[in-house]
Amino acid sequence: MSMPPASAPVPTVDGAATGASQDRSQEALAILSRVFGYDAFRGDQAAIIEQVASGGDAVVLMPTGGGKSLCYQIPALLREGTGIVVSPLIALMADQVAALEAVGLRAAYLNSTLDLHEAQAVEQQLLAGELDLLYMAPERLVLPRTVQLLQRAQLALIAIDEAHCVSQWGHDFRPDYLGLSMLADAFPGVPRIALTATATEQTHRELTERLRLEQARHFVASFDRPNIQYRIEPKASPREQLLRLIAAEHEGDSGIVYCLSRKSVETTAQWLADRGIPALPYHAGLPPEVRQDHQERFLRADGLIMVATIAFGMGIDKPDVRFVAHLDLPKSIEGYYQETGRAGRDGLPSTAWMAYGLGDVVSQRKFIESGEGSEQYKRSSRAHLDAMLALCETVSCRRVQLLRYFGQDSSPCGNCDTCLAPPQTWDATVAAQKLLSAVIRLDRERGQRFGAGQVIDVLLGRESERSLTSRHHELSVWGIGEELSEKQWRTAIRQLLARGVLEAVGDFGVLVPGERSGPVLRGEETIELALDRSPQRAARRTGRSASGASRAAETLEPVQRERFEALRAWRTSVAKEKQIPPYMVFSDATLVGIVETAPTSMQQLGTVSGVGAKKLAEYGEAVLEALPEAP
Ligand code: ADP
Ligand code: ZN
Repeated sequence: MSMPPASAPVPTVDGAATGASQDRSQEALAILSRVFGYDAFRGDQAAIIEQVASGGDAVVLMPTGGGKSLCYQIPALLREGTGIVVSPLIALMADQVAALEAVGLRAAYLNSTLDLHEAQAVEQQLLAGELDLLYMAPERLVLPRTVQLLQRAQLALIAIDEAHCVSQWGHDFRPDYLGLSMLADAFPGVPRIALTATATEQTHRELTERLRLEQARHFVASFDRPNIQYRIEPKASPREQLLRLIAAEHEGDSGIVYCLSRKSVETTAQWLADRGIPALPYHAGLPPEVRQDHQERFLRADGLIMVATIAFGMGIDKPDVRFVAHLDLPKSIEGYYQETGRAGRDGLPSTAWMAYGLGDVVSQRKFIESGEGSEQYKRSSRAHLDAMLALCETVSCRRVQLLRYFGQDSSPCGNCDTCLAPPQTWDATVAAQKLLSAVIRLDRERGQRFGAGQVIDVLLGRESERSLTSRHHELSVWGIGEELSEKQWRTAIRQLLARGVLEAVGDFGVLVPGERSGPVLRGEETIELALDRSPQRAARRTGRSASGASRAAETLEPVQRERFEALRAWRTSVAKEKQIPPYMVFSDATLVGIVETAPTSMQQLGTVSGVGAKKLAEYGEAVLEALPEAP
């Protein structure tokens, strides 16, 4: 199937917008400003809204933080009836609804947390046309009873959020999404809009087919997240490295730390907490009520860190997550991009940071080989891992490489570690040859295959019981690698593994020559490797002192930062009192806007982005009072 061109211009009749569409677009702008407090649409938002509001279907691929919600919320307001929003995560619906109520919309959800009476009340509201938006999970929507209910109501549209969940080869497939193909027949004439932040061509194709969106217009946004700074550093003592990152750049910020295993999630959360950093664990092995509680605390508190497996994060639309850290290597770039994308939805400076080492490469390879699943599945897993490793080992701009993976060309970004501190490279051809020779000789002359540690012992000529009994010192490769340190050898092995010059096989990750070793051994190919950067060199270089404080206020002057902190404190108290997450009062971006505008009247305050009519009426006076005198 070939995709229609991305972001084609809005279709017009006779080359000009029709009167009806002009009226609609004015009305859309009026809603944007009055309800949400924003003065302009971003990217494709206006075109998407016009497409759906005029009754057409849409497929929307937009990165996290791109502003997908407005693409169905505003058409739902423009059209008669209720907008149905399909979302996979019941646990988040209450918050999604609360956020809409906070701006004065009529929203509700139908799910298993409601008792019979509550559910009936919502159904009544729906039938009476008293709801702008109604959220439900796919398993609920496909029930015949729900379909009948919805057929009796007037529907403005059906929005399918996290639509990549329908993709069977994707990283978070949900079987319940497959049932949504029935929507086309059950609700003819109701426009459908599918939205996702997963950008690969395959996902795009699958969701278009499975959701029967053949007639849809496709909107593919740029997947760049310019406010996120990508950094990948060699793993030495990962927790200490994480602690340094938090202390230097993210004191008091909210963040997510991803670990591979449940056990490392728990020990890392405890380790941080022991050092006075508020952190909670989250993984699928915790009881549901504990998970729910931790998630809610994360959403509600300022500056809490969630240490989690990849079970955490989908649908979390907390806008002020300032950093996402990976202590283990993700399995694919899709996963990595989705996870790091949870940082900085509000557009303010944020960090995606990862520590990765030789052990990650070995354990991930082993995991794939020993895993169940077809050969086809393993092949695809290997390809995913290879692309991830290539990103880790690149010596050029990380963002360019990420975007290229999603089919988008760009130029060096200036906001990733390789751009900020270009890695130095060295000619490692001879070193690679020595390493390969050692691996080959050990195998041929001693019948031994070893992991990295023992191969390095041979290269460095280090005596041990094993080397003595195996008479390693009689090998021609004994001690031929003394010009490099153990650490440098490890770095080289890691990079050679990532490039397929070496391979680590079996349960113990023993080294064997890789697919691409031949030309290197024959001297037909030279190998350039990067010197491991020290963490300090890779750190961002801004004028800011490393005195912690939130990166959200990074662009502000010191005096302004004080005012920002005063507003944050005010926001915390209001959020507590109302029992809603602070960002539902105002986002960090809006607080920054208020400080920059330094409003002295309600009217001025109303011009700040993110201050809509309802919030102005509700909080305006209090904000002006909470704002310390301008300098
Ligand atoms: P997504 O669902 O694509 O991750 P959201 O819909 O949650 O993104 O939007 C991300 C943030 O951007 C939210 O805080 C939202 O209010 C804000 N936003 C969306 N559209 C606009 C706009 N046109 N102007 C200003 N802010 C916007
Ligand atoms: Zn870059």
